[in-house]
Amino acid sequence: MFENLSDRLSGVFERLTKQGALSEDDVRTALREVRVALLEADVSLPVARDFVRAVQDKATGQAVTKSVTPGQQVVKIVHDELVHVLGGDADDGALKIDQVPAPILMVGLQGSGKTTTTAKLAKRLTERDRKRVLMASLDTNRPAAMEQLAILGSQIGVDTLPIVPGETPVQIARRAKQQATLGGYDVYMLDTAGRLHIDAELIAQAAEVRDVANPRETLLVVDGLTGQDAVNVATEFDDKIGVTGVVLTRMDGDGRGGAALSMRAITGKPIRFVGLGEKMDAIETFEPSRIAGRILG
Ligand code: GDP
Repeated sequence: MFENLSDRLSGVFERLTKQGALSEDDVRTALREVRVALLEADVSLPVARDFVRAVQDKATGQAVTKSVTPGQQVVKIVHDELVHVLGGDADDGALKIDQVPAPILMVGLQGSGKTTTTAKLAKRLTERDRKRVLMASLDTNRPAAMEQLAILGSQIGVDTLPIVPGETPVQIARRAKQQATLGGYDVYMLDTAGRLHIDAELIAQAAEVRDVANPRETLLVVDGLTGQDAVNVATEFDDKIGVTGVVLTRMDGDGRGGAALSMRAITGKPIRFVGLGEKMDAIETFEPSRIAGRILG
């Protein structure tokens, strides 16, 4: 994740910090290169533009060119701005489990990694947070998807709601709630149906389930490899269903990371987790300051 961007930026900043004294022009030139690096990482144009403008304003405001270590000061400003654009430091990824049982709704397009992420998070909640978790698949159009969740559940030792053929997603959501309540579960996770594109039926179904389940969290799973498309998908899901956070998957295969950098600025929604592989442990909380540090090496 972010290797390409990181390489590009370290080149720019190495030159800058080596130089000693800096002119306003040197800073401007470096920031132009930062802007190009961001665009090449598939960060959306307005986000890249605002980013560079904010850094430029702060550099001018802090009179960095007159300081003893101007290059390092620019790097520091870029670092802080990266933390800001990635979402600040408020979120620690902890899921809101403030009622028993707490419903968590998982939404997203087919193939985004939704079922895998549901199981990864269930495993995490079970092992790290010592919660009793029940998972249920609502993908009544694709029996294979329902089976897949059951198989993952047995692999990781997390219970899944038994599959009853012929039920509607809303009926399954109600049964999951009942089972979670009667069975003494802390959390129940609803893995909704995905489709290849956002369409009226997908949205209507997810909204109906949301209204029945009244989730404490609605997590949108999007494929990080799709770059700006991931941000567009998130905007649409949030407009139509309302999400509390985003999980970016396949970040193990993305050296660019543009979706991660644009997501918060454009959708206003925090990235809560990133998927880093197919294995059940390949998920991490998204911590802006750690990631900014990683990007700047
Ligand atoms: P769904 O249709 O959205 O439920 O998608 P799945 O959970 O079935 O995932 C589709 C494919 O993507 C599977 O082969 C997963 O193993 C894979 N996958 C999911 N998350 C990640 C990830 O973070 N990294 C990688 N490399 N593969 C992932």
